[in-house]
Amino acid sequence: MPIRIVVGVNWGDEGKGRMVDYFSKDADVVIRFQGGNNAGHTVVNEFGTFKLHLVPSGIFYQHVTNVLGPGTVINLEAAADELQQLISRGIQITSETYKISDRAIICFPFHVLQDEYEEERLGSGGFGSTKQGIAPVYGDKYLKYGIQVGAIRYPDYLKAQIGRCIELKNRLFENVYRKPPVTVEAMFNWAMTFGGQLEPYVCDTIRLLERAQQTRQRILLEAQLGTLRDIHYGIYPYTTSSCPLSGFAALGAGLFGANDERLQVTGVMKAFSTCVGAGPFVTEIHGELADSLRETAFEYGAKTGRPRRIGHFDAVASRYGAKLQNATELALTKLDCLSGQSSLKICTHYKIGDRLIENFPITPELSLAEPVYEELQGWDDDVSKIRRFEQLPAPAKLYIQRLEALVRVPIKYISVGPERKALIVR
Ligand code: GDP
Ligand code: MG
Repeated sequence: MPIRIVVGVNWGDEGKGRMVDYFSKDADVVIRFQGGNNAGHTVVNEFGTFKLHLVPSGIFYQHVTNVLGPGTVINLEAAADELQQLISRGIQITSETYKISDRAIICFPFHVLQDEYEEERLGSGGFGSTKQGIAPVYGDKYLKYGIQVGAIRYPDYLKAQIGRCIELKNRLFENVYRKPPVTVEAMFNWAMTFGGQLEPYVCDTIRLLERAQQTRQRILLEAQLGTLRDIHYGIYPYTTSSCPLSGFAALGAGLFGANDERLQVTGVMKAFSTCVGAGPFVTEIHGELADSLRETAFEYGAKTGRPRRIGHFDAVASRYGAKLQNATELALTKLDCLSGQSSLKICTHYKIGDRLIENFPITPELSLAEPVYEELQGWDDDVSKIRRFEQLPAPAKLYIQRLEALVRVPIKYISVGPERKALIVR
């Protein structure tokens, strides 16, 4: 059975949730393998419009087991709230269709506080964090102060671990940030309350995935964010604190022994560029075009509501993005949002001084890079009802073919609207 991995090749918010929802109809298991509730994956289907933060985007199908893998970080309160909200909107979720790895790391309220305090300390020099505690909790994971979700079944152990972590955290809060300390009791009660609500879903997901493979179930892995936010290869330090690359997917999902399987990596790529948060963004545009595109495409953060920064399509960034994802195919999203522009710019190279650059550089160079554009003809027609590539306006076909040639991976899917069916399959 092939294993499909859906990843972002840009700055995130490419429409991964939308594609995972589409692919889930042919999946038995969908796994989120990294990140936390800083994600905002929008799914529009017959049940309504949903912004999923932790729950995998396969949750709308009763036949799918949705897993939060060991590579994720889980704010127990946010996870419990999200679950209740989905159930209250009529989505059936049971301990059979939703599973949380006992090895995922708990994101505590003190991680959220640390994130807030740090952004406050940095002031205008901040990273544009979503302030969900993600960097602090991944930091603690690697400092070995993290606490695994399964600890909720061992209250004494949990309390001792919280104490160990808080002992250090409070020194930071009180002496560096000049904020009040947190108490072990409050954090322990928080974990027991919300952990208690999630307890029926917590399990050893490694065994679950082992069985899924033995019974030849169809496995789909869902990433959060995109290549350019990867902790290792993204626009460091304007990155997230986890690895959203397909190369990490199996590891973060707890999926072992899958080496012989044929991995299919679907890189999701937006027809123009957007990014939230700080850092260099070479093709950024301001003014009327950016504002109108932001409105038509509704480019506001699914988690934070912040207006996304808008830019022309960046082939240097996207080629790098697709390559590092080992993308075997691309899903191009939001083509419909480009209708009505007389021409479209594509950044084919960067220029630093008189050097022409084809490969995505490190951050200090990226800050100096100027975009080199080519310009293609635009189109006026509304493409949102089109379901066949041949029926697209000629300039739209040329635009897609040019992106494909520049990024060097075939564009197999073209999304022309947020709804499940608004998709062209080539
Ligand atoms: P994700 O984080 O990668 O899942 O993407 P987000 O959900 O944060 O952002 C993508 C946004 O674009 C959401 O509001 C989607 O509903 C919307 N969207 C996805 N594909 C399309 C498309 O082809 N056309 C339009 N108009 N909107 C789309
Ligand atoms: Mg998003």
